[in-house]
Amino acid sequence: MAGADIHHRTEDFRRLYRKTLTDLQYFMGTSNDVMVFTSSGTGAMESAVSNLFSPGDKVVVAAAGKFGERWAEITRAFGLDVQILEAPYGDSVTPERVAAALNANSEIRGVFVQATESSTGVSHDVEGMAEAVGKTGALFVVDAITGLGTSSLDIDGWGLDVVIGGSQKAAMIPPGLAFLSLSEKAWERIDPRRPTYYYFDLLKHKKSAEKGESPWTPATSLLLGLSESLRYIREVGRENLIENAQLLAKATREAAEALGLKLFARGVPAGAVTSIRAPEGVSSNDIVEQFKTRFGAIVANGQGSMKGEIFRIAHLGYFDFADLFGVIAELEIILHSLGQRVEFGRGVGRVQEVYVAASGE
Ligand SMILES: *Cc1c(COP(=O)(O)O)cnc(C)c1O
Repeated sequence: MAGADIHHRTEDFRRLYRKTLTDLQYFMGTSNDVMVFTSSGTGAMESAVSNLFSPGDKVVVAAAGKFGERWAEITRAFGLDVQILEAPYGDSVTPERVAAALNANSEIRGVFVQATESSTGVSHDVEGMAEAVGKTGALFVVDAITGLGTSSLDIDGWGLDVVIGGSQKAAMIPPGLAFLSLSEKAWERIDPRRPTYYYFDLLKHKKSAEKGESPWTPATSLLLGLSESLRYIREVGRENLIENAQLLAKATREAAEALGLKLFARGVPAGAVTSIRAPEGVSSNDIVEQFKTRFGAIVANGQGSMKGEIFRIAHLGYFDFADLFGVIAELEIILHSLGQRVEFGRGVGRVQEVYVAASGE
């Protein structure tokens, strides 16, 4: 990325762009078209709403946290008629609720969900929801910004119409690129007569992509970085990347429980991030602060009303057991300094046991 930049209307760039789009299909595990935007993940979320739906369209949002609330905000901003299926923080929305909403109203044109709700560390049953949506004319739009590369999503097999990713999560590069796959059913939905989009024009991106280009000046340095990380992902194998996140998630959960902490997720926990409750009488603000000041480690606080209540350890992308041994050892020291009774090594020992069991030794 720090190397020589390339001009975006050259053969060098077209080669890079075409290869990156193909490698993104591999990373996402789909043969659907993949489009790339120079924006953060939310840009691709917005593009799905603005290109595939019209004001007044009835849609359902399955919201289980801050990112689900973002779907509600975007769909409302574009004038859609939104029904929200809400789950309390820490829970997930069940496929049964989505199926019931679809059964109750045959005019529903779209269903929006997070594969992984990063604000709470919960996964959704995307496969189960896809089954319900697939029986209807509605489009199924999945924010998989942290779901990709951390959980198994069979885009083509399950029939996921739109799946959205972002560069700064399991794709392992800095923020600034968003990408999304679109099914045939999704492309057919676009009505370009009264567009509510310009920068995020999907058909324009498709037309340019066929020539190996992006309609606007793309973030070439990020694309150079992405092409390298996708090369690495091919080398590791997408299934192994997912397995790595899942295994680290399991080790994190077991270590937290071994330390007497409570997990925040009540449903299926995410592979990308583990949410842990601060112990009784302790604010997660202090835990997060000590991670930063003592160890230079960034562990996320809860968002919104969860701030001070939970902390979130990520383990997606370029993250491995060496990192986790460190994070859990640090956590033990922090808990001790906050007056908790800690048997040093107990959490780390759990991580070691998970590692050894997984290596079959
Ligand atoms: C990180 C994340 C986003 C990010 O959106 P940005 O626009 O890149 O900040 C959206 N949805 C989920 C589930 C995320 O984890």
